[in-house]
Amino acid sequence: MQRLILAALLASLWTPSLQAGDWCYQSQFSCDHQCKAPDQWNQANGDCGGNYQSPINIVTKKTVKDERLTAFQFHNYQQLFRGTIKNNGHSVQVDVPHLSIISGGGLTSSYKAVQFHLHWGKDGGPGSEHTIDGEQYPMELHIVHMKHHYTDLATALADPEGVAVLGFFYQHSNNRNQKYEPIVTALSSIKATNGNSSLPSISLAQLIPPEKNLTSFYRYKGSLTTPKCTESVVWTLFESPVPLSADQLRAFSQLKFHDGRPMVGTFRPVQPLNGRQVFHSGATRILTSSAILVAAVAAAVGLCQPN
Ligand SMILES: [Zn+2]
Repeated sequence: MQRLILAALLASLWTPSLQAGDWCYQSQFSCDHQCKAPDQWNQANGDCGGNYQSPINIVTKKTVKDERLTAFQFHNYQQLFRGTIKNNGHSVQVDVPHLSIISGGGLTSSYKAVQFHLHWGKDGGPGSEHTIDGEQYPMELHIVHMKHHYTDLATALADPEGVAVLGFFYQHSNNRNQKYEPIVTALSSIKATNGNSSLPSISLAQLIPPEKNLTSFYRYKGSLTTPKCTESVVWTLFESPVPLSADQLRAFSQLKFHDGRPMVGTFRPVQPLNGRQVFHSGATRILTSSAILVAAVAAAVGLCQPN
C-alpha cells in the first residue's frame, strides 16, 4: 500500500514535467529547475522535431534572388490602437486589432496582424532568433499575421501557409528611439509573469523602419519558434534594423520568468535548413548600387559639359 502511495506521489510530482506546456529556454535550465530546454522540445511538443523548423542562420551568399519578392503593401499599419502589453512567461506580447493588413512581398494572400512579441538576450547582448551569416542581433521583433479569411490563429496554424511573420532585427544606437518609449516604459509595470499594462496609443508603423527601407528582405518557409513549433509560417526577415539605445535594450532584461529569475536569452537556437532554400528580394542593395552608378554617370556627364 505504502509503495502504491509512493508511486502515486512520484507520478504526481513528475506529471508537470511531462506536459507539453512545460518548456523553457536554455537560459532557464539549471540543476534545480529541470524544465524542457530547446533540445528536448521535440518530446511531446508538436512539430518541434520536424524538418522545417525556425529560426535559422541565413547564409547570405547562399540565398537566391527572387524577382517575385516585390515591395510589401502595409495597409492600416499607421492605425493607432490602445493595446495591452503582457509578460506571458516566455516573452512580452501585445495583441493587436486585426485591422493592419500586409500584401505584396511575394505573399500569395493578404494577411492581417494578430500580435507582436520580442526575443532578446541579456542586457542588450546577443538575443535575436535568426542570425545573418552567424551574426546574432540584440533583439528580434515578430509581428505575427494570419491569412485574412481566418478569425483565429489556431485555425490559421492548420494551413501550411496560414501564418506570415515579419521579423525585424535591432541594433544599438547612441540615441533613445522615442517611438519605443511607450513600450519600454510599460516594461517596469509587467516585470512579473502574467503582469499586464495598458499602452498609450501606438501603431505598428512606429515600431518598424520607414517603408522605403523595407524592400530588402529574406524569405523562407518555417515554423513557430516556440512549442508547438507548427510548420505553417511564411517567414520574412528585413535587412534594415530598428535602432534602440543600450538602456532601451537593457530594459527588457528587467522582466522575470515565472520563477522570478531574469527573463533573458529568450531565443531558440538556430535549426537545420534541411535542404530549404532561402530567397532574397535583392531590391535595396542592387537599387542602391545602380542609383550610385546613375549619380556617378550624371556627375561625369556634368563634368564633361563645357562651361
Ligand atoms: Zn517569436
